[in-house]
Amino acid sequence: MNPVNNTQHPLPGSVMIAQEVPLADKNWFRTGGTARFFAAPTSAAEFSQAVAWASGHNIPLFVMGEGANILISDDGFQGLVIQPVLTGLSHTLLNAHEALVSAQAGVRMHDLIEYCLTHQLLGLEEFSGIPGTVGGSVYINLHYFEFLLAQFLVEAQVIEKKTGQIMTVDKAWFQFDYDYSTLHHHEYYLIGATFLLQRATALETAYAQGRRTEIIRHRKSRYPTARTCGSFFRNFFPSEVFLETQGKKVIWVAYYLDKVGVKGNLRHGNATVSYQHANMIVAEPGATSTDIITVARTMQTLVFEQFGIIPQPECQLIGFDQYPLLK
Ligand SMILES: Cc1cc2nc3c(=O)[nH]c(=O)nc-3n(C[C@H](O)[C@H](O)[C@H](O)COP(=O)(O)OP(=O)(O)OC[C@H]3O[C@@H](n4cnc5c(N)ncnc54)[C@H](O)[C@@H]3O)c2cc1C
Repeated sequence: MNPVNNTQHPLPGSVMIAQEVPLADKNWFRTGGTARFFAAPTSAAEFSQAVAWASGHNIPLFVMGEGANILISDDGFQGLVIQPVLTGLSHTLLNAHEALVSAQAGVRMHDLIEYCLTHQLLGLEEFSGIPGTVGGSVYINLHYFEFLLAQFLVEAQVIEKKTGQIMTVDKAWFQFDYDYSTLHHHEYYLIGATFLLQRATALETAYAQGRRTEIIRHRKSRYPTARTCGSFFRNFFPSEVFLETQGKKVIWVAYYLDKVGVKGNLRHGNATVSYQHANMIVAEPGATSTDIITVARTMQTLVFEQFGIIPQPECQLIGFDQYPLLK
């Protein structure tokens, strides 16, 4: 890291770089230390400047959304955290059946879905009740049952980390897969994305609104909704597992975690495995990220001892000097 002086840093174009900013109030676990530097750009130009500032000073960079799928080390992050506050939303009607909706990276999925339903545009309501921003959701290729966000994305704007250059890219550029996109290499950051949605009548929209309400009700009754990152571990790839049922590989990580009896039972400090879902860790008041890591490692160990496979995190681990889980 190159030296930087010890004051706040207003960059040309006015994005402010603050120092020692707490991150616990910016993520869903509500744990973790501070960001050495922190910026909340409100335009693509400011976002690009903040990225260039980190690159220019050789400072590690982490771009976050709503913090719904991250675990931040208790030691914090010794670099620049950028939380883009880019909230633009617009749409264009293409023909009688289709429309394009553009949303910037900082728009919450909740607000994007509400916007779409208000304008009688359907598709994204399948992701109702899932926290996170457009940036984090494109990053992970948001999924719920058979629906993937990639099914709807047609185009996006990204910033290249190395140059700060803003580029328009198409869906193929992202190389989307389960829990995967090109953004995983942290060489590009999302500024905004455009989704192709279906136009609907008022009646069809009312049905979609009802479906949204039902999905949210269902999720609330089945999963914890606070101080968690959702599923901590990703499902296995078929090549990773041995167990089969009816000729099909058992890839569901929650199946294995259920079998080893962690649900509602395993605890360390103030972190515990949810009594509702074997793959969800919940941070109770007073929990630390270290508590959560200890629970997660124990989950990995128990599955390995019984099944010979090691669950791998879907949750992004931020600011850990050494990788704290089993590989
Ligand atoms: C209660 C609960 C339920 C959940 N249920 C589901 C579910 O059903 N399906 C599902 O898929 N996920 C689920 N999740 C996980 C989470 O909602 C998603 O991963 C979401 O997309 C995270 O978005 P975020 O903005 O909070 O990203 P963050 O958690 O802030 O970041 C996650 C990753 O995205 C990257 N990122 C964020 N913004 C950008 C950007 N602009 N450019 C490049 N990279 C970026 C970050 O660098 C990080 O690597 C759940 C989480 C919770 C807490």
